[in-house]
Amino acid sequence: MRKRKRFELDENELPKKWCNILPDLPKPFPPPLSPATNEPLNPKDLEVLFAKELIKQEIAKESDIAIPEAIREMLQDIRPSPLIRANSLEEFLKTKVRIYYKYEGERSPTGSHKVNTAIAQAYYNAKEGTETLTTETGAGQWGSALAYSSQLLDLNCQVMMVRASYDQKPHRRTIMELYGAKVYPSPSSKTEFGKKLLNSDPRHPGSLGIAISEAITLALQDEQTKYSLGSVLNHVLLHQTVIGLEAINQFRMAENDFPDFVVGCVGGGSNFAGLAYPFIREKLRNGYEMQAVAAESTAASKMSDGDYRYDFGDTANMTPLLKMYTLGSDYIPPPIHAGGLRYHGVAPSLSVLINTGHVTPYKYTQQTAFEAAEIFTKSEGIIPAPESSHAIVAVIDIAREHKDEELSIIFNLSGHGLLDLLGYQKYIANELE
Ligand SMILES: *Cc1c(COP(=O)(O)O)cnc(C)c1O
Repeated sequence: MRKRKRFELDENELPKKWCNILPDLPKPFPPPLSPATNEPLNPKDLEVLFAKELIKQEIAKESDIAIPEAIREMLQDIRPSPLIRANSLEEFLKTKVRIYYKYEGERSPTGSHKVNTAIAQAYYNAKEGTETLTTETGAGQWGSALAYSSQLLDLNCQVMMVRASYDQKPHRRTIMELYGAKVYPSPSSKTEFGKKLLNSDPRHPGSLGIAISEAITLALQDEQTKYSLGSVLNHVLLHQTVIGLEAINQFRMAENDFPDFVVGCVGGGSNFAGLAYPFIREKLRNGYEMQAVAAESTAASKMSDGDYRYDFGDTANMTPLLKMYTLGSDYIPPPIHAGGLRYHGVAPSLSVLINTGHVTPYKYTQQTAFEAAEIFTKSEGIIPAPESSHAIVAVIDIAREHKDEELSIIFNLSGHGLLDLLGYQKYIANELE
C-alpha cells in the first residue's frame, strides 16, 4: 500500500510578496554589461525587449516585492502546490532520511513550474501595451506556459522551438498551438542567423542559445512585440519564489523545523531558485545549517565544468553580457531528453551563490536520471519530468549516503513527465543515445 502524506495550503495562503535574493547575496551582484562598451548596461537599453516593470524587478533592491492582486488571482487557479512526503520512496531506499517534494506538475495546466513566471510576464506586458510576445523553448515546457499565459491575457505568442525537441516532442507543439501560439522549429528561416545555420546543416538540432537569438530578432523587428525569457534573469527567478515561500510554511507544518538539504535540478536555474532562494535567505539571515544542492546534466554541466566569467546568453551574441558559470555561448549540448537542461549558462545570481560556496552543484547522466525516475514512479506513482529526475538522483544519493541519520530533504519536482514518454520508451527499450 502506498502511504503518502500531503501538506496543503489554502488559496488565500498564496504568498503576497516575492522573495528578492539580490540584497542578501554574500557578494554584490555583478551587473550585466553592454556588449558594445563593456560597461554596465543602462536599464533603459532593455526597454526594446522587456516590459518596464520587469526591468525594474531585474535590478530591484527591496527584499520583498508585492505580487499584484491580479497576478495572485491568476496564480490561485494553479497554486498553492502541494508538499508531499515521499514515504514509499523512503521505504524503498531503506533510509531514515525524511524526503519531501514540492510538486509543481500537479495543478499547473502545462505540467511544470514555468507558468509561475509566464503569468507575471504576460500580465506586465499586457498592462504596458505589448501586443505580441516572442520566446524560445527547449522541451516545450516554457513555450506552452507562455502560450497559456498569453491566451489568458489576450496577447499573441510566437515560439522558437529547438528543432531537436520540435521533432522529439510533437505534442508540446500541439499544446502551444491549441493555446493559440505560432510555433517555429529553430534554427528557422525566419531570421538571417537561422538561415545561415540551416545552410551549413539542414538538419541542425538547434539549441536554446540559438532559439533565444531568433526570438530576440523577432522582437526587435516590431515595437509592440516584446521578448520573454523563461529562466536565468533575476525577474524570472523572483516570480518562481512563490514555490519556496509556500514550502517554508508547509515544511513547518510537516516538521516544525528547517530542512537539512534543499535540492533542485538546473537548466537556467529558475525552479531551483524558486524553491531554494527563500530557504537560502533564511539561512543567510538566521544561520540555519542547510545544504543547497543543484543537479545538472552531464550534457550541459556548466556549474561543475564551466568557467565563471562574463558571457552572452545566446548563440548569436545579441544579449547583454552576464557574469555566470558557462560552457561558452557557442556550446551546443547533445540532444538529451531533458531538453530544459540543455543550456550553456546559468543564472548570474545562482552563480554568485555557487561561487561563494552556498550552493553545491552535481552532474548526472541521462541514464542515471531515467533510472531514478523509474524508482520514483514505482514508489511514488508519479512519472517525473526527465529534468526533475536529475534532482531525484541527487536526493536518492543523499538519502542512501545518510541512511541511518535523522535528516530531512526537500526537493522540487518541477514537472511531470507525461509528455516525455518517447524518452521513457527509449529508456525502457534500452535505446537511449
Ligand atoms: C524548464 C524546466 C526545467 C529547467 O529550467 P530551470 O529554469 O532551471 O528551472 C526543469 N524542470 C522542468 C520540468 C522544466 O520544464
